[in-house]
Amino acid sequence: MNRLCLILFGPPGSGKGTQAKILRQSFGLAHISTGDMLRERITTRDELGRQLARIMQAGALVSDEMVNRLVEERIDQPDAKAGFILDGYPRTVSQAELLTGLLKGRNIPALVVHLKVDYNVIVNRLSGRRQCPTCNTLYNLSASSPSSGSAVCSLDGSTLVIREDDRPGVVLERLKAYERQTEPVLEFFASVGMPCWDVDGASGAPQAIASGIEDAIRQFRGKSGAVGGEK
Ligand code: AMP
Repeated sequence: MNRLCLILFGPPGSGKGTQAKILRQSFGLAHISTGDMLRERITTRDELGRQLARIMQAGALVSDEMVNRLVEERIDQPDAKAGFILDGYPRTVSQAELLTGLLKGRNIPALVVHLKVDYNVIVNRLSGRRQCPTCNTLYNLSASSPSSGSAVCSLDGSTLVIREDDRPGVVLERLKAYERQTEPVLEFFASVGMPCWDVDGASGAPQAIASGIEDAIRQFRGKSGAVGGEK
C-alpha cells in the first residue's frame, strides 16, 4: 500500500503548521514539524540543546545533518503508516536531495503544496503571533482565532508568550534564510519532476484554504494510486 508524503512549503508564517493540523485529521497523516522537534530537543537543556537554542534564536538554520537524522527516524514511526505531512522540511537543497532518496527507497509518492504569502502579511502575522507554552498551540492576536483578544490558551488556560524567534529582528533573519537557502528548493523539486501546487495562503480562512488543498490531495491520490486512511 502506497503512503503519501505531503510537503507543506512556504516562508515562516505562511500557515504551514495551521494547515498541517487540519489536514492530518482529514487524511490520518502524521504531522512532522522539524521546528517542533527541535524546540522539544531544546527543553533537555544539555549542550546540544543550548547550541540549538542559539541557532534558532538567531533566525538561522540548524545543520542539514541534524534535521535529516530527525526526519529519517521519524517517518518510519508507526503513526506515519498512512503517510505524513512535512512542515518546515526540507529547507535546503541538500535536505531535499536526501528526502527524495528516502521517499524513493520507500516508494512513497510526494506532493508539494507551496503556500504563497506576501512578505508584509508575514511580518504582520508573526508580530501578532503568540504561543501557548504548555501545548504549543499558535494564536494570532490580530486574527479571528479562538482566543483572539485574550492572552490565554483556549485549550488549557496558560498565558500565551511570544516565541523567541518571532521577535522583529529575528523574523527578518528567518526571512533572509528562507530567500537564500529555502526558495531554491522549489527549483530542485521542479528539476526532479516533483508535483508542486501553488496555493494563495493569505486570502481566506484556514479551513477554506485547507479545503482547496484537500481537493488537490484527492486528485493527486487518484493519479498516483496513493491510498491511505481518509477520515
Ligand atoms: P519553524 O518552527 O519551522 O519556523 O522552525 C523554527 C526554527 O527551527 C527555524 O528558524 C530553524 O532555526 C529551525 N529549523 C526548523 N526546521 C529546519 C530545517 N528543516 N532545517 C534547518 N533548520 C530548521
